[in-house]
Amino acid sequence: MTHHSPPLIPIVCGNKIITEGSDGVGRSIDPATGEVIAEFARAGQEEVDLAVRAARTAFDEGPWRRMRPFERGRILRRIGDLILERREEIARKECADSGKPLRDAYWEVDCSARFFEFYGGAADKLQGNSIPLGPDWSDWTVKDAVGVSLHIIPWNYPFQLIARGVAPALAAGCSVIIKPSAETPVTAYEFMKICQEAGLPEGLVNLVNGRGSVAGDLLARHRGVDQITFTGSVPTGERVMVAAASHAVPCNMELGGKSPQILFADADLDRALPIIAGGVFTHCGQVCNAGTRLLVERSIHDTVVEKLHERIKSMRLGAGIDDPDLGPLVSKAHKSDVEAFFQIARKEGELLLGAETPREGPLANGAFVRPALVVGADNNTRIAREEIFGPVLTIIPFDGAEEAARIANDSPFGLVAGVHTRNIDAALSMAERLRVGQVWINAFSVGLDVEFPFGGYKLSGFGREKGLEALSAYQQVKNICIHHPVPR
Ligand code: NAD
Repeated sequence: MTHHSPPLIPIVCGNKIITEGSDGVGRSIDPATGEVIAEFARAGQEEVDLAVRAARTAFDEGPWRRMRPFERGRILRRIGDLILERREEIARKECADSGKPLRDAYWEVDCSARFFEFYGGAADKLQGNSIPLGPDWSDWTVKDAVGVSLHIIPWNYPFQLIARGVAPALAAGCSVIIKPSAETPVTAYEFMKICQEAGLPEGLVNLVNGRGSVAGDLLARHRGVDQITFTGSVPTGERVMVAAASHAVPCNMELGGKSPQILFADADLDRALPIIAGGVFTHCGQVCNAGTRLLVERSIHDTVVEKLHERIKSMRLGAGIDDPDLGPLVSKAHKSDVEAFFQIARKEGELLLGAETPREGPLANGAFVRPALVVGADNNTRIAREEIFGPVLTIIPFDGAEEAARIANDSPFGLVAGVHTRNIDAALSMAERLRVGQVWINAFSVGLDVEFPFGGYKLSGFGREKGLEALSAYQQVKNICIHHPVPR
């Protein structure tokens, strides 16, 4: 057997490609097989300074802000086109790096292209307001770019979450620094190559790979950074907010969730159950808006548990590239965290397991876990309150809409919720009461819809991604006021 050395992913600061970082080398592992698929240069202070300088120069002196907005939009749309041209290659790389099934990786690439189409189209529509002050005065607002925007990315959707933040930031006129997760650095570099090919001016997008506690922290504290978009866990988000406070810059926080899916007895179960299962088991539950608490009207509780258990028993586990029902978790370390929750679930309720993990062949070394249902644990338990980020659905019965709303809202998080019923009045009344950033009715989770805003209440964060709302994070409002009295 021949051994090829894995490709090395560099740090990219303006036109400099840096293959040796001052914090050494990291390795990215295929979680299905345990094989090293790439190495990456890890940035320290020196490379962080270079990246910030490149982004500062591009913003302060580069051509981007002097271009006409429609020209910026064209380049963004070209990035979208190139993403689609490379769909196959990027999706396959993402499968190996993050473990996700191929269909999810295709979705991730397609959705990324949509962000560039959408914000490319928005670039020349970023209008201000005219404000009436009465005779002899004119007043208007201008939407000005915020400056150098830092994007700290988690490992679950490494490519799509770059697109989600970077496309509106560029449309608004900002320059950008991307800090991918050390677990999944591979496709961010493909994104850099696409930006260059699309003709994006030098230094507008910079790539800083490295450890969160080193490169991430140095970037978040850097006085040359004007704004931070963070997507990740609550504890890290809190650290990043402290770093942002150390130089008083605004941040967007897209954090975790423990989202409820509320199933009323009158719902069409044949339609609702696949949606509910998709809502929690997509990408092995490693989705911020996973619907991990299923609140079921008591009269159908046992039937629903039985049907879902049958469903998870027949799920196929495998490497992402084979497009299984469930891929592996992102790493062995994360697998141990999820399995620790299996122990907690056994203490707090009853754990019903589904499909067996692969025990033979190359996949026996992968980070697979069995999908699981937890029954008999109430909403005050850890299993019902903490984000697991694995394929675990906690099922809790309720009696009546009042109780369903109370349980749904009794959570430290408030990202999204699902409501399944044929009764539109009941659905809309529930949507009004839920303390979450997004309510799905007889649906759950996203397609290619980049048009609506997304973000959390409570510990799920603040600020909004997606839609036209996302642009405001990258803009500041300048007011211009003229006094022009006519001599009388
Ligand atoms: P994480 O918090 O461990 O890491 C996120 C990023 O922060 C990584 O790039 C990491 O390197 C970096 N980081 C770590 N320490 C840092 C520090 N001190 N300073 C600056 N950066 C630092 O999250 P994760 O495990 O990669 O992702 C899973 C989490 O992300 C889950 O909680 C999930 O809910 C959340 N998430 C939220 C959304 C959303 O839109 N709300 C989307 C995806 C994931």
